[in-house]
Amino acid sequence: MKVGRLAGPGRLELVDLPRPTAGRGEVVVDLAACGVCGTDLEKLRGNYQTAGKIGHEPAGRIREVGDGVRGLSVGDRVAVHHHVPCYRCAVCARGDLTFCPTYSRTNIDPGGFAEAFRVPAENVERGAVLRLDDRVTWPAAALIEPAGCAVTALRKVGLPSGARVFVLGLGPVGLLYARAARALGAGWVGGTEISPLRRAAGERDGVDVTVDPRDDGAARAAVDRATEGMGVDLAVVATGHPAVIREATRLVRRGGTVNLFGLPDAGSRLDADLQDLYLRGVRLIPSYATTEADMAEVHRQVVEGRLRLDDLVSHRLPLARFDEAFRLAATPAEAVKVVVTGPAFDG
Ligand SMILES: [Zn+2]
Ligand SMILES: [Zn+2]
Repeated sequence: MKVGRLAGPGRLELVDLPRPTAGRGEVVVDLAACGVCGTDLEKLRGNYQTAGKIGHEPAGRIREVGDGVRGLSVGDRVAVHHHVPCYRCAVCARGDLTFCPTYSRTNIDPGGFAEAFRVPAENVERGAVLRLDDRVTWPAAALIEPAGCAVTALRKVGLPSGARVFVLGLGPVGLLYARAARALGAGWVGGTEISPLRRAAGERDGVDVTVDPRDDGAARAAVDRATEGMGVDLAVVATGHPAVIREATRLVRRGGTVNLFGLPDAGSRLDADLQDLYLRGVRLIPSYATTEADMAEVHRQVVEGRLRLDDLVSHRLPLARFDEAFRLAATPAEAVKVVVTGPAFDG
């Protein structure tokens, strides 16, 4: 079967590998769609400490079910989460599930850009194979994981009802964050984004006001107008740039929260006035990844029509053209979310 993978820094390759089979407790899924994530692009750039596998937003149809698996059948449409926490360690007991040491050790094989992939027994038994409602399309299914990251973040930082939120960077995850915040009760959402295509996607649904970050003072002015000069309750840094983190600390109100959501470059430094942060009580809270429970919450919201995902997919390319999918995903002027399709994709 065909598998798209990293061939080295800056290089992708499409190779032939044996199709995986399902051992005890495992399932094998035929790929329908897998999103290209910003972290996949960072891995390609050689910029992510945990390099290696790419493709972690897969959805597809179950091809094979191993002995001992209950509640899943061949032919089921599913979205799969690649990581699961152990639920037994002290980190899990405190609720920091995505920081569990087991979490990033678990993974699908060989990755999400493959005609078929094997889901380990740990993932299966902890509910990381999510059965999809018929109303959830494949493109939407591929967005459940990144939208889940937003739900996990919002749960972690806390979102008071009617909260005013500002998202710095309306790329795919920033847009999903804005929509998730809306679905969970935010009163006003603003955001910055250079790409007009992505700003338009925000304005279509989820974001009240978008501004170009190159427009000096525009973000501050938008926040001041929406908050009577007070600052937003929550600023979300959906890029990794340290200067943007600093800007976010200035847009929040006294006692407000800055959520570090985008992946910063390894070794990057934050240059901020710490006394100002101290005296204004600004909280900096990082949030990384998601869990199968928060993905199930996203699925529920999509089914109930409270969260719209499909329209954020601007491009669908078959696995044979996955290198082109990566190029497009790295071109904000041309693409919003790019999804790679596999043999189980049927519209
Ligand atoms: Zn991702
Ligand atoms: Zn744990």
